Amino acid sequence: MKVALVNPFWTYEHSIYFGCRQPHLPLELGYSKAMLEADGHDVMMLDGQLQVLDNAALAEQVASFAPDMTVVTTAPTYLFWRCAPPELRVPGEFLSHLAGRGGRTVAVGPHGSATPAPTLRKLGVDVVVRGECEDVVTELARQSDWSKIAHTARLQNDLPVCNGGVHASPFVDHAALAWPSDWIAAHGHHHHRFDAHQKGAGAEVEASRGCPYNCSFCAKIDFRDAYRRRKHDAVVAEIDGLITQGVGYIYFIDEIFLPQKALLEALVERDVQFGVQTRIDLWKPELLELLGAAGCVSIEAGLESLTVEGRAMLAKRCRLDTEDLAALLVDARRHVPFVQANLIGVVEDDPTLVDYWRKHLVDHGVWANEPVPLYPYPSSPSYRELWGEPDDLAWERAHEHYLASFRSFSDIQDQRPHALAELESSCCNH
Ligand code: SF4
Repeated sequence: MKVALVNPFWTYEHSIYFGCRQPHLPLELGYSKAMLEADGHDVMMLDGQLQVLDNAALAEQVASFAPDMTVVTTAPTYLFWRCAPPELRVPGEFLSHLAGRGGRTVAVGPHGSATPAPTLRKLGVDVVVRGECEDVVTELARQSDWSKIAHTARLQNDLPVCNGGVHASPFVDHAALAWPSDWIAAHGHHHHRFDAHQKGAGAEVEASRGCPYNCSFCAKIDFRDAYRRRKHDAVVAEIDGLITQGVGYIYFIDEIFLPQKALLEALVERDVQFGVQTRIDLWKPELLELLGAAGCVSIEAGLESLTVEGRAMLAKRCRLDTEDLAALLVDARRHVPFVQANLIGVVEDDPTLVDYWRKHLVDHGVWANEPVPLYPYPSSPSYRELWGEPDDLAWERAHEHYLASFRSFSDIQDQRPHALAELESSCCNH
């Protein structure tokens, strides 16, 4: 079978999207491609950003390949499934240009995982995959009758028919990925890196997936939830392949990069630098030293709130107090040139206390952003606390709540965000 895998050409005008806008490797498509090819399928993988192809050009390439099945992702790579653009404008635009020339169509991503029916209606695809997608995409290519494939949903008489719930990939056995050299050459971006010594191309790698915690704002209930660690040899082989292709910096997209001595020791021996997101309360001083020695140049630590009460409200289940956390962050900064404490706007936080701790961290070289507001993504506990299980209007409800709740927006959002219906008006069927 011929299969096209497409990461569309992302644009973000008037979006609330606060993730990074640079190109990244579409890992979910990379795993799908490897598994499809192992099954003998002929796969074309396209990435709008890395190949500088807009959605019309991507659609033409897919049409000339004449696939039996086209898969499009609704978030710009696995790294951003937990903070995806709520609007389906971009995949919708790609599918409009494709206009039925890509065989059967499949949408993968956070939207179809949490809210299959509106995703099917807005995009007009044949099927959405619910949850992590690579194994399900492989299964779709194996079967001609899609009516019984687990973890998919389709419309029948405009009503959703779901086969089982969301999927969690076994993940641990994923083989080392290999990316096209021209994609790596086009990937100059070093994700979440701010020191001045950048050399070589950037790349993203996944050493583990999921997280054992359940912070209230974290949109991972439907994907990337349970913690799984990938086999060490595959991770190291993937990194070695990337280094050979000219990569000088890797960003581990792991939800929570836990201390793994074997991986850190393997990285000590390699000429590559890297960035991670983690919880600082899970690190000990000696492992922070090893992290720095291994080449870590960027830590994004999800501190989220600077008060015990605020962290409790966010369900961080953090056993350390603010003083201990601040000390660990400052210690990390001794070994790693950029350390960020991620802050979220929590009403329980006393502004004077927040200012005090922010200043303390910044004075010790740790970046602590101005607290940013929360978007209650449908796959987060906070959405479900507010409104229960996501229904067909879940994204619209979350969006309206977000726009109404906050008068000022994070400094990343330079334009006033628009309502969801407005953002999707040109490309999605409402
Ligand atoms: S620790 Fe991080 S990844 Fe884990 S639930 Fe909390 S915010 Fe999500």
